[in-house]
Amino acid sequence: QSTGNGSYEPSQVKFPEIKFTKLFINGEFVDSLSGRTFETIDPRTGEAIAKIAEGDKEDVDLAVKAARKAFDHGPWPRFPGSERRRILLKFADLVNENAEELATLDAIDAGKLLHLMRIIDLPLAVDTIRYYAGAADKIHGETLKMSRELQSYTLHEPIGVVGHIIPWNFPSLMFAIKVGPALAAGCTMIVKPAEQTPLSALYYAHLAKLAGIPDGVLNVVPGFGPTAGAAISSHMDINMISFTGSTEIGRRIMQAAATSNLKPVCLELGGKSPLIIFNDADVDKAAEQALQGSFFNKALLKFFFFFGEICVAGCRVFAQDGIYDQFLLKLKEKAQNWVVGDPLDPNSHHGPQVDKRQYEKVLSHIEQGKKEGATLFYGGKPLDRKGYYIEPTIFIDVKDDMTIAQNEIFGPVMTVFKFKNVEEAIKRANETKYGLAAGIMTNDLNIANTVSRSIRAGAIWINCYFAFDADCPHGGYKMSGFGRDLGMDALKKYLQVKSVTTPIYNSPW
Ligand code: NAD
Repeated sequence: QSTGNGSYEPSQVKFPEIKFTKLFINGEFVDSLSGRTFETIDPRTGEAIAKIAEGDKEDVDLAVKAARKAFDHGPWPRFPGSERRRILLKFADLVNENAEELATLDAIDAGKLLHLMRIIDLPLAVDTIRYYAGAADKIHGETLKMSRELQSYTLHEPIGVVGHIIPWNFPSLMFAIKVGPALAAGCTMIVKPAEQTPLSALYYAHLAKLAGIPDGVLNVVPGFGPTAGAAISSHMDINMISFTGSTEIGRRIMQAAATSNLKPVCLELGGKSPLIIFNDADVDKAAEQALQGSFFNKALLKFFFFFGEICVAGCRVFAQDGIYDQFLLKLKEKAQNWVVGDPLDPNSHHGPQVDKRQYEKVLSHIEQGKKEGATLFYGGKPLDRKGYYIEPTIFIDVKDDMTIAQNEIFGPVMTVFKFKNVEEAIKRANETKYGLAAGIMTNDLNIANTVSRSIRAGAIWINCYFAFDADCPHGGYKMSGFGRDLGMDALKKYLQVKSVTTPIYNSPW
């Protein structure tokens, strides 16, 4: 059973020194104006790691003032793209050189598996910054063929001062995904990391300065949602919000944007994604993919199962009736070998939940599932140890309208359903308010094509799951949000289009 003891010695991993705990405004680390701080907690123990300066409205005002000045008068938006590219490549190199420290900071701050951070989050963060560095000198408009004696062209200009509000589940990667394209576009910005995970964002700020990103271009203000976050979303001098987080808070961000200066918002929100396994799929591989799909964040790649502190978790698993029983056996076999343990331990498959609130929320969802009459097939209990550890949990006999089948749990809980045919799978997979991602396991091309075109979601993975890349746009349908991160689509959201028109000849214009 999951105890996570292995042969691990904490001394094998160099515990990072916490060097940056203050707000980063206009190129300097500063205390908050109120002098207040908050503790960031190690979810392995529930104890404080460090005291962080707590940003509030007046600190956001200062950061926005710096970003505004850098945008209106500073060199960053005026540099040729090749100069932004050069600096961003340097930034990416510095992130790469400091990847071990950044990964360890996230591991202790968020409870993420260190070995996973090393091979997924940090390499993808570096790749993402390099990808957008490469785009910085290729931003251009079009020449238009006008119907009268006019000529017109378009300019793609940076949108201005951007407010990025990000969650705790991918602190490093999310920082790179948001900041990379906005910097490449020539924007200036303020980033509010999640209150649970401020450490790596402040470290990134330090690296950005070392790379030569001018003062005021990138500001980092840790703080809480209702104070610092709300001050960003309602700010009159921020030109756009790029938000990743829950659907509930996304709605508030949009309301604040609407009632302040009508700034555009891009929302990457929650999900309840289906993974559909057809009779012709290899059952062992399907069980492996189910693990990968549902439990990716905090889970070991090799097992990948269900540890879903990830927006795209494939936590609604639909198995076709011909393989259903066999699939459940495989799932149980793999879950029994699952080790829930310290995220710094290379033997762990799954770390703790990020904080007490999230831990209690996941446990209450499990209780709710039992009360509603679903069968607890595996797990379901917290671990009898310090910290916020929960067993991998699988429910069967779940009805589509039960709370555990509809609400995002954001923890190690999978629900497995049985279905008969393609039409039923499509209908039931779409019966959710969310539309972030879906997985399909089949070798039948007709089924794969039909299902991928019928699922209302922003990403479809066929015979794979969680296949992210800097070049592949990511975002939601329905209440999973709108706008895209990653790929060239993300760059577009930080740009405005301006048309410039002149008469061609000495015409009456
Ligand atoms: P959350 O919505 O509680 O918080 C996200 C961020 O919003 C945090 O920085 C928080 O401080 C801030 N915030 C909270 N209240 C605010 C307010 N009133 N005004 C402005 N900002 C406010 O989400 P979370 O618990 O940190 O993250 C988990 C959620 O994020 C899940 O729903 C998950 O699906 C979603 N998520 C989505 C994606 C995606 O790409 N679609 C990726 C990762 C996470």
